[in-house]
Amino acid sequence: MDFAFDNSFHDRMEGFYAPAEAVTPSAPALLTFNHPLAERLGLEVDSADMAELVRILSGQGLPDGANPLALAYAGHQFGHFSPQLGDGRALLLGEIIAPDGARFDIQLKGSGPTAFSRNGDGKAAIGPVLREFLVSEAMAAMGVPTTRALAAVATGDRVQRERAHPGAVLTRIASSHIRVGTFQFFAAHFGADHVVQLADYSIRRHFPDLAEAANPSLALLDRVIGLQCELVAQWLGVGFIHGVMNTDNVAISGETIDYGPCAFMDRFAVNTVFSSIDANGRYAYGRQPQILHWNMARFAEALLPAIHRVSPADVDAAKALVEAIPVRFRTIWHARVREKLGLGGEGTDDGELIDTLFDELEEHGVDFTSFFRAIAMLLRGDEAMLQSLLPARDAMAPWIAQWWERIAHETKGPLEHADAMDAVNPLYIPRNHLVEAALDAAEAGDLAQWLELLEVVRHPHVIRPGYERFAAPAPKDAVPYKTFCGT
Ligand code: AMP
Ligand code: MG
Repeated sequence: MDFAFDNSFHDRMEGFYAPAEAVTPSAPALLTFNHPLAERLGLEVDSADMAELVRILSGQGLPDGANPLALAYAGHQFGHFSPQLGDGRALLLGEIIAPDGARFDIQLKGSGPTAFSRNGDGKAAIGPVLREFLVSEAMAAMGVPTTRALAAVATGDRVQRERAHPGAVLTRIASSHIRVGTFQFFAAHFGADHVVQLADYSIRRHFPDLAEAANPSLALLDRVIGLQCELVAQWLGVGFIHGVMNTDNVAISGETIDYGPCAFMDRFAVNTVFSSIDANGRYAYGRQPQILHWNMARFAEALLPAIHRVSPADVDAAKALVEAIPVRFRTIWHARVREKLGLGGEGTDDGELIDTLFDELEEHGVDFTSFFRAIAMLLRGDEAMLQSLLPARDAMAPWIAQWWERIAHETKGPLEHADAMDAVNPLYIPRNHLVEAALDAAEAGDLAQWLELLEVVRHPHVIRPGYERFAAPAPKDAVPYKTFCGT
């Protein structure tokens, strides 16, 4: 098994990380391997390689060419600045180049303590590892930018949380692990030279077209804001709640990163929070755009010395970029909702149609995911699905009439709209009650449910007979869902 590493961060960014090594697991065993992803990365894996792979992906053996390291970063956690975070339970093995030229980090998550572990054990339990694997695969299948999971390996060791759990290591693939918090760390501790170096590296790696910009750091801010607006609009569009939108969990690549207490909303409610550690609802579903704004203000602050160095006048331009985020986000979000509703072009009353939609969904407690599939069925002349979601027959009648009117003005026929809607609106998402049951079984040693759920969410848009229970909202009597951060 040859990874053909090309470790640019290790080679060019000395001082931005600490060397690290994995703890040898007592009895590594493969839980699951992502063959389609391996293929996308250009890793040729046959069964003969598996034993060697398990050794590598559990931290038992180091592949040739790896330069294992832990990245330094800081971050605002729930609004408070932590100057010293960093990879406390993750090990970057190195970078590989896929056949299409794209560069990816290969990281082991849960492979033992590093220089940045503080009081943590550097380990991960099987539940959170399989949750990240499942949810990130679902996100990728829905077209949401995300880190990926290449493998999950059981370590054979116990990990102590509220109680003892089987330990596991996740192999995470990311276009990089540079976060807003990485910039904050070097701005806070080292100053402008380091920020400029990190900005240059980031631009070269992610956004080479910005290298010639008059003020590259300002251009970087603009680009990252754009990507984050797109990302959060995608999250809202699939009912996703990240749960810990701290600045150390915001990747500048625009990928969703750090799946902890995340979950998908069932019934629409704008204040939905699942995380047990988010008592004040800071990261509630509907607050995510505001938090994106706040996080980008922190990113701008970290970049200011680099921006100022090129042109002091550009500091005002940076402020203007941050101030424009709410409007920029709303434009992107509305485009996404129009797509979900099957609407082409921009109608003059779309803003109101969209705002009232969310009021209506909340008032009637409608299952968010199913709703968009149900109105596509309506276009096909079948109202049964919509009726099954509403508390009363006419519950949303005025809104539906308004939407129908808007569709009627489009040039395409209703069936074409319905198909276009189904292509962007998932039918199968990792429903909380299904995820929970699958993880419980997996922890007890039975992976079958988890593997089946993985297979279902990898094809989120195409209806499959016999899979009705995967599309169904949580049972009405389900206990309110809570997620825990003990990842
Ligand atoms: P997270 O909440 O996963 O974004 O992690 C926040 C910070 O805590 C990061 O610096 C992690 O590396 C660190 N951390 C989380 N869990 C552990 C653990 N079990 N051992 C060491 N560090 C950890
Ligand atoms: Mg994190």
